[in-house]
Amino acid sequence: MSQPEPDLAAIVRDVVADMHAREDRGTVATYIPELANVDPGYFGLAIVDVAGNVYAGGDCAVPFSIQSISKVFTLTLALGRIGDRLWRYVGREPSGNRFNSIVQLEHEAGVPRNPFINAGAIAVTDVILSGRQPRETLGEILRFVQFLADDATVSIDKDVADSEKRTGYRNSALANYMKSFGVIQNSVDYTLGVYFHHCAIAMTCEQLARAGLFLSCNGTNPLTGLSVVSAERARRINALMLTCGHYDGSGEFAYRVGLPGKSGVGGGILAIAPGKASIAVWSPGLDEAGNSHLGRIALEELTRRTGWSIFGGVS
Ligand code: GLU
Repeated sequence: MSQPEPDLAAIVRDVVADMHAREDRGTVATYIPELANVDPGYFGLAIVDVAGNVYAGGDCAVPFSIQSISKVFTLTLALGRIGDRLWRYVGREPSGNRFNSIVQLEHEAGVPRNPFINAGAIAVTDVILSGRQPRETLGEILRFVQFLADDATVSIDKDVADSEKRTGYRNSALANYMKSFGVIQNSVDYTLGVYFHHCAIAMTCEQLARAGLFLSCNGTNPLTGLSVVSAERARRINALMLTCGHYDGSGEFAYRVGLPGKSGVGGGILAIAPGKASIAVWSPGLDEAGNSHLGRIALEELTRRTGWSIFGGVS
């Protein structure tokens, strides 16, 4: 029996009201000083369905730092650049460790577990940088995100990038360590500079949901009709988001939400409902694994009400 279409406008309205009323909001990231200044009271949600309808509420028009969500876009670019050769520099397994862990790298000869932990994303950035100057590479990444969002106003928050650059000792350690194994090809400073800047891309929930829409639609953005990647590649990026997109909280996210998703320490989450919609949620307070606390709860509520979990379970 086919399910009735979910009333997305009502669901967004209810979820936003529920989340605004909650007092448990997690803790904003403080290791990047500029992010520590963000008001934990924000909550935004936007759904763009495959027909192009937008359902948005709360602080959905306030730009926030997408941080690690940018890793979905850099992974897409790197795969476009060198295809499956990318897997020489980075693996495809969940890490089970914190997002910035260095321990695993030693055991695995400097090849990071997956493209979404910090070390993996730095290795992916290095691949995109090869053969180009840092400024050119950054321009390419930004233009790609603008193209995906179909919005030329998406920009980089320079204060956030500078703030992370000043305090990025751990990422610096990861990059230098990988360089010692020959996994990083370019100057560590250049690679990190590009990495910090793409993490500092600022987007609203609505822009981010639009940018993820190609992953809901077999690699083609249904709003522009433009193909971004093949259907097979979109499926594989979704698989990586499901298994690795929330660091050592990925199992919990799959269990509770049941969608491919990627979080960032700015408090955003991009979630993909294949064949249905792209969803962006933002609440700056994080849980212990570094994922948006209310963002995850909101998505859990949303998949419960829409029946969009890829694992089924709608009765
Ligand atoms: N720019 C952040 C870092 O490297 C990204 C981490 C995240 O968003 O999870 O620490």
